[in-house]
Parts: sequence; structure tokens; C-alpha cells
Amino acid sequence: MGAENATAAVDPQLISDLISANHILYDQGVLDAFGHVSVRHDKDPQRFLLARNMAPALVTAADIVEFQLDGTAINGAGRAVYLERFIHGEIYRARADVMAVVHSHSPAVVPFSAVQTSPLRALCHMAGFLGTSTPIYEIRDFAGDGSDLLITDNRLGASLAQVLGQRSVVLMRGHGSTAVADSLVTAVYRAVYTEINARIQTDALRLGPVNFMSEAEGRSTAQTIEGQGKRAWDLWKKTAELRCAELAAAQTAV
Ligand code: MN
Repeated sequence: MGAENATAAVDPQLISDLISANHILYDQGVLDAFGHVSVRHDKDPQRFLLARNMAPALVTAADIVEFQLDGTAINGAGRAVYLERFIHGEIYRARADVMAVVHSHSPAVVPFSAVQTSPLRALCHMAGFLGTSTPIYEIRDFAGDGSDLLITDNRLGASLAQVLGQRSVVLMRGHGSTAVADSLVTAVYRAVYTEINARIQTDALRLGPVNFMSEAEGRSTAQTIEGQGKRAWDLWKKTAELRCAELAAAQTAV
């Protein structure tokens, strides 16, 4: 047996939670046919788990693939994998505190990736983790002009991780965003509330000058409210499973 196979098996609960995360993020409008969510392996920090290349709403346990941080699939068995898996591996490599990553194209966030004069920042208390600004990854700075805007190799993944720095969310110009956290529950929470805050911020900006939350309020609210994230997860999981069970049944019937 090669060294790459020596890691203990992943906790089945983690697989189950990763499936729920896929379904929740679809049901909450953060992921559609595209985007993905990963979790770091609970026994080996040099590995992470991510679905094969498919729509998140349809992910089952059989679709979860284990990866090395360089994006190499360990048990891919010839299955197609996500082109942008390097986002996940390079963030896990750069940030030992990060246990889960969500990459999405959720629509209310994308305008803030393209308008530098209007930074995405915490406006509502549920999104204190955004603080007073959100970094924007400009892929032209790293790939030049004419790229497909995707993070398709380790070098681009590492540059994205560098722009993320120690923040919770990084915007990707003309593309989407990536949210990170120390747990799957919190990463899902942040991805959902990044989209909600973006929607609210766009609404508020139409009304007039906005009284945003301060950096200190962001820290305090994040500390208090993110501890309650399981309440949202439990509700979102129930509604997502109802919808995804219907999808799975329809798929079987075809
Ligand atoms: Mn993408």
C-alpha cells in the first residue's frame, strides 16, 4: 500500500454533512448548477473532500472524492472533477484554521466584485464576518488579459488564497466569491449571508448614504451570532432535503 493510501478513513458523518452542505447551498440560492463546497479531511489535514464534477443538488455519498491539497484526486477512479478544485486545496494549504470552503457565483455578490468604489461590507448584523471591506481578486493581475476567469491551476489558487489573506470572504472579479470558515456549518452560514448582505447593501445604496457596521461591531456580532449557526443549518437542511429528495426521485424516474 502506498503512503498516499495510509490515511484513516474519513468520519462518515463528515461525508453526510458535506452532502447536506451541497443541498443547502443549492436550496438557499448560493449554488446553482455551478459552484462547490469542500471540507478538510478530519484525519489528515493534507487532504480535503469535494464532490465530483456535477450539480451540487444531486450529490450523494458515492459522488464525494478525496483530494490532496495540490488538487490531485486520490480516489477519483476516472471521474471528472471540478476545474476549480485548486481554490480549495490552495486555501487549505495557506490557512491551517480553515476547515471548509464554499466557492459560488451567487448573483447579488457579483456586482461588488466588479465595482471597486462600492466595497462589499457588513451592513446587517448577520454578516458581521464581512467586516468593513471584502478583498477583490483581480485575475488579470496573475493570469494577464484573456483568461477564462477560472482558477484552473495551483498557481492561481495560491494567488487567490493570498488575496483572501486572513479574511472570511474574497470576491473574484466578474466571477463570484469564496467563503471560508473553521467548520462546514459556519462556511455555509457565511456563504448564505454574504449573498443576503449583498442584496441588502444594494437596496440600501439606492436609498441614500449607508450607515454601515463598524469593524468592532462586525467582530462582536460575528462572535455572538456565528455560535448560533447550527440553528440555521438544522432548518436549511430540512428544507433542502425535501427539495433534493424530489429532484432525486425525478432523476430516477427519467
Ligand atoms: Mn467559479
